[in-house]
Amino acid sequence: MKPSPFEYSAPTSMDEALAVLALDPDETKILAGGQSLIPMMNFRLARPERLVDINRIPGIDQPEVEADRYRIATRTRHITLQNTTLAGPLGHLLRQAAARVGHLPIRTRGTFGGSLAHCDAASEWCLVASLLDAEITARSEARGERTIPAAEFFQAIFTTALEPDEILTSVSLPLLDDTWVTGIAEFARRAGDFGIVTATAAVKVVEGAVTEARVSIGGVDEVPFRSAAAESTMLGASWSAEVVTEAAEAAAREVQPPSDTHGDAAYRRDLVRALLPRALGQP
Ligand SMILES: Cc1cc2nc3c(=O)[nH]c(=O)nc-3n(C[C@H](O)[C@H](O)[C@H](O)COP(=O)(O)OP(=O)(O)OC[C@H]3O[C@@H](n4cnc5c(N)ncnc54)[C@H](O)[C@@H]3O)c2cc1C
Repeated sequence: MKPSPFEYSAPTSMDEALAVLALDPDETKILAGGQSLIPMMNFRLARPERLVDINRIPGIDQPEVEADRYRIATRTRHITLQNTTLAGPLGHLLRQAAARVGHLPIRTRGTFGGSLAHCDAASEWCLVASLLDAEITARSEARGERTIPAAEFFQAIFTTALEPDEILTSVSLPLLDDTWVTGIAEFARRAGDFGIVTATAAVKVVEGAVTEARVSIGGVDEVPFRSAAAESTMLGASWSAEVVTEAAEAAAREVQPPSDTHGDAAYRRDLVRALLPRALGQP
């Protein structure tokens, strides 16, 4: 199949892109890396009347450190984050997550902002944003800029808090100091596929005790699932392999995964049990 007819514009500034989008927001789509939108258009699952290609807008394709945060501009490609030299636990997590996104050609074109806007619950970047309570910045011509917390941003499968006339412009993550342990572990049937279940975790350990714990799991809900049970199991405990195993058990009990052709609910629970310790460096 080929896409239904559409108008195409390739503005060279964000203001211009917002103005074109404002002409008819409900029938217009932003084109970033095209790695999700173009297949959907080819299958006619999406039939936008107009595309606004943001690939010619300068200055929106690099991450940068801003005080104690890391701001990732919307068109930052997956490969840029795979190659980031950012030191510390955040750089480690970003490199690990990026390496698991699809295949090299997808990582070369696909973008961080596009992944969040697309909102697939199995997406590594949606999980990282949920895990670290990202602040997501969006702009519209009519209302200017606003910041949306990740907890409000991901609403349902392929549904975010973005309004039709908004463009996601950047995402800000906290820089994590060396007291944090971070990681991601996923299981996919073939290398490069979306994970059936993916576990991400970030734990702050001070003098042997867990003072903050974050766990976000993909493939068990319509959006990334923050496991309150796993987090509360680890919080305040001594940092050990045993507490990580207990947290994984608590998460496996807490999740209510779907059953589908990729795996039933019991299988996904088992994956949660197995993957959370691996995300935190435990066998
Ligand atoms: C074979 C294959 C395997 C893949 N495997 C994985 C995987 O393992 N993990 C994973 O995370 N992803 C995977 N992907 C998807 C890939 O990561 C995409 O790059 C990503 O989902 C979308 O980013 P994009 O920049 O390509 O967005 P696009 O495809 O250009 O856009 C996606 C959607 O987001 C909207 N959008 C894009 N940018 C913005 C913006 N700035 N503001 C508002 N709306 C915007 C578009 O209008 C569209 O609705 C895979 C894709 C393919 C084809």
